[in-house]
Amino acid sequence: MTHVPIGIDLGTTNSLVAAFIDGEPKLIPNALGNYLTPSVVSIENNELLVGQAARERLLTHPKNTAAVFKRKMGTDASLRLGGVAYSPEDLSSLVLAKLRQDAEAYLGCEIRDVVVSVPAYFNQTQRQATKNACALAGLNLVRLVNEPTAAALAYGVHQRDAETQFLVVDLGGGTFDVTILEMFDGVMEVKASSGDAFLGGEDFTEVLAKLICEKLDFPWAKLGANLQSEIRARANTAKIRLSDDDAWTVSLQIKNEMHEIVLSRQAFEEAAKPILRRMLVPIERCMYDTGLDHHALDRILLVGGATRMPMVRHMVTRCFSKFPEFEIDPDHAVALGAAVQAALASEDRALDDIVVTDVSPFSVGIDVSEELPDGKCVHGLFAPIIERNTPLPASRNEVFYARNARQRSVSTKIYQGESAYVSENVLLGKFRVKLPRKLDEAECVDLLITYDTSGLLEVEATVLSTGEKTGMVIEALADGLSEQDVAARLEKMKALKVHPRDNEVNQALLSRLRRVHEMALGNTRSQILTMIAQFDAVLNGRDPKEIERVRGELEEILDAFDDLYVS
Ligand code: ADP
Ligand code: MG
Repeated sequence: MTHVPIGIDLGTTNSLVAAFIDGEPKLIPNALGNYLTPSVVSIENNELLVGQAARERLLTHPKNTAAVFKRKMGTDASLRLGGVAYSPEDLSSLVLAKLRQDAEAYLGCEIRDVVVSVPAYFNQTQRQATKNACALAGLNLVRLVNEPTAAALAYGVHQRDAETQFLVVDLGGGTFDVTILEMFDGVMEVKASSGDAFLGGEDFTEVLAKLICEKLDFPWAKLGANLQSEIRARANTAKIRLSDDDAWTVSLQIKNEMHEIVLSRQAFEEAAKPILRRMLVPIERCMYDTGLDHHALDRILLVGGATRMPMVRHMVTRCFSKFPEFEIDPDHAVALGAAVQAALASEDRALDDIVVTDVSPFSVGIDVSEELPDGKCVHGLFAPIIERNTPLPASRNEVFYARNARQRSVSTKIYQGESAYVSENVLLGKFRVKLPRKLDEAECVDLLITYDTSGLLEVEATVLSTGEKTGMVIEALADGLSEQDVAARLEKMKALKVHPRDNEVNQALLSRLRRVHEMALGNTRSQILTMIAQFDAVLNGRDPKEIERVRGELEEILDAFDDLYVS
């Protein structure tokens, strides 16, 4: 079996897969011929749709269709689809399995080892959940790579001898990352990363959805789930249109009454100001951590679909007095860079002269108490052991002393975050180490905390007098999965029926026809109903040539319609 390095960008909105072939990263198209596979899963009667066909069903089957679940990675949220509960990890694994299938069909070989990208600002539980999703998709995660670092690699691989300090701004559907890197003689060194794991293009869509409701004089909470999804879809179209146009008109039918709402870019930008201001926080933190002046940066790279919004571009240009670059499509850079990282991991000779180092995204530390001069004690304070932006891999130790010789165990809690109070940081796990019976003096325990190159943490404790070690991967909300866990969850997912690859294009068209049918009115609606019936009949005829011919015709008609309703 030939080994092809594979990189996956598992995005909130869209996912992509790329391979490193002949010294270059290349994107792999899906069964529909697209590089972008929407990260959407739809399940009905145990039938599974992933990607474009599922995305079309967000509007027609909102209760059986899930999107933006990456935002819930690492939480115990569960989403019910077709009557069965799925975790965000399960759903992500279905997207990964789909990308795997597409890559295997394209490359003609089996794929197991992958590098997957995550937002730089993903914490331990979110990273662990991504690793679990890989295991559920039958993939072996070689390592995680931070999305902005991957994007920088996609650029860096073509300009190895450049000597630059650059900033990567990645605004995707649900996450925002900022990273500063230095490149010198083929060595790419991440200096600092910051971000907001809950800020992305979807928040801008939400602003427009609320603006539509305001103009309709209709409270958001009172709209049903279907109308909310429809308004969200229209808001999303408006957001994308307003990146090119000064105004966009949304037509909506509510209770047999037509409403036309004109949205101007100016009103959108005014309403989105608070989100734009939130973007400045990680940018400033990153600048502070590197000690760099805004003018010291040579280049600014914009990554992620939402950086297409003029207000984002203007903000970045104003902030750094420099125009950003977009030589590589902002949608493609992360996947291409993940493939480069996969090639680096497999020591591909084409990349002999490139070295990349990354940093820890968050400080990790323990819960301590502080005694004040007046004898009072303050509990629940956070004492960092490894600080944020430490080069990876990194290990630090901390020695704990038992209070007296009778103490039988020591315990501590481990947190990730930057707040002075542990209650405001993320609790990763509780650690308890049994102590041997010792009569003369108090025992001590050495706690070793390690960040690996994926930004994942491991903790090991050693009882100093005996040398006995207790190793553990941090236990938290999203634990590592045991083999039984994987087996049980795979069983659930095996029950899902996957459409054969050659039927996917037809499924996507059927879902699209149904969406357009629901959105349309009057004559257009009945015209589309006829198209659905016609396509159904052709599918039943099972003549591949005829199916392809009719599909082409119908797609052309739908394209004209979708010019009005991009989603
Ligand atoms: P992710 O990496 O999270 O999957 P992407 O990088 O694919 O996200 O970006 C998706 C986000 O970008 C979505 O919120 C989408 O609506 C938004 N987006 C894509 N194109 C545009 C555009 N032309 N104008 C404004 N927003 C856009
Ligand atoms: Mg992305």
